[in-house]
Amino acid sequence: MKKLLSLLTLSLIALSLTAQSSDLKEMIDQRADELEEQVIEWRRYFHENPELSNREFNTAKKIAEHLESLGLEVQTEIAHTGVVGILKGGKPGPVVALRADIDALPVIERTDVPFKSTVMGEYQGNEVGVMHACGHDTHIAILMGVAQILTEMKGDLKGTVKFIFQPAEEGAPKGEEGGAELMVKEGVLKNPDVDAIFGLHISDDTPVGEIEYRPKGIMASVNSFDIKVTGKQAHGSAPWGGIDPIVTSAQIINNIQTIVSRSMPLTRQAAVVTVGVINGGVRNNIIPEEVTMQGTIRALDEEMRQLIFKRLETVVQNTAESNGAVAELTINKGYPITYNDPELTAQMLSTLEETAGKENVKLINAITGAEDFSFFQNEIPGLYFFVGGKAPDREASGHHTPDFYIDESGLKLGVRAMANLVIDYMD
Ligand SMILES: [Zn+2]
Ligand SMILES: [Zn+2]
Repeated sequence: MKKLLSLLTLSLIALSLTAQSSDLKEMIDQRADELEEQVIEWRRYFHENPELSNREFNTAKKIAEHLESLGLEVQTEIAHTGVVGILKGGKPGPVVALRADIDALPVIERTDVPFKSTVMGEYQGNEVGVMHACGHDTHIAILMGVAQILTEMKGDLKGTVKFIFQPAEEGAPKGEEGGAELMVKEGVLKNPDVDAIFGLHISDDTPVGEIEYRPKGIMASVNSFDIKVTGKQAHGSAPWGGIDPIVTSAQIINNIQTIVSRSMPLTRQAAVVTVGVINGGVRNNIIPEEVTMQGTIRALDEEMRQLIFKRLETVVQNTAESNGAVAELTINKGYPITYNDPELTAQMLSTLEETAGKENVKLINAITGAEDFSFFQNEIPGLYFFVGGKAPDREASGHHTPDFYIDESGLKLGVRAMANLVIDYMD
């Protein structure tokens, strides 16, 4: 009898435990509803007061004030203007990080919204308009909302949440470090050590209510490269007296085309090698001494990325050598692949489906643009996904454009998705 009673108690405890996580999710839905107006108000504030990468001083101040008002442990000035809030749950468990990028772009806003930005700023010595033309204002507002909701259920949280507000996703100004890479360098994923990280991006081309995801590479790595081809200057009428870096460069560009088309396992993932700049020569009848080129490499698979680096070096060197010229190739440090850990993605997919409705969660093709959330995923398992912000009655004008527009009714799904991911991951 005693045994039966304790069994009964155990199963009752188990029952109340399982009820708890669904209770929490119900609470999240309710609070997301109630907070929607507030989240939109925050978004509008940041939209009207945008700041460029590594200059997010006021933005950081507002975020820190909110996190402090919630009673979180707050760290500021991480990677210049980054803010981190730490929420320790009432029960032991893993450490989950949620990331929002907070910077705006040098774009003059052309929308007709009442909270349109008229802010001017300085970018690389030029006076520019400043606009949240990528939607990072929505990311800040969403994460502030999530912080509030999860703080309210602090006692029931089985673990710790790190809210990471990250500056300079669009890239630090010339000569400065910044963004996710610098945050990682400054130890944002340590102490307490983060087990998993989630990040989202609002999309002006995805209908409100939808979520888009992809396991493994969802956004590409990016590396720019420089090539310098040195020959021997000669009169254009007597090329045999010199070594022609122009013909050599033409051959190099042609041969580079075979890297993707002949060496990549293309059924696995896409890859891109583009030459976008070529400079050489000053006059029709002079074979110059030197030609310089620049290009970009995009990959969605680390092995393929490394193979491109290797093949590029071989093609450039051997083509130059076959012409008697000398080539120098520099592959610059870029962003890693935004790589969604396949196990974590599989594990959390049901949360996204439960949150948005199964029919509203779509598997998308990879994108050859890049995102510095990848620096976090380079260290720990992470999941990055897109949330719909497309108004039904408006054509998407594209991120980074003066007409960039987000339907604010899409923000609530972002709040619910992030909060639910935390609850389910901790479970
Ligand atoms: Zn952007
Ligand atoms: Zn962005």
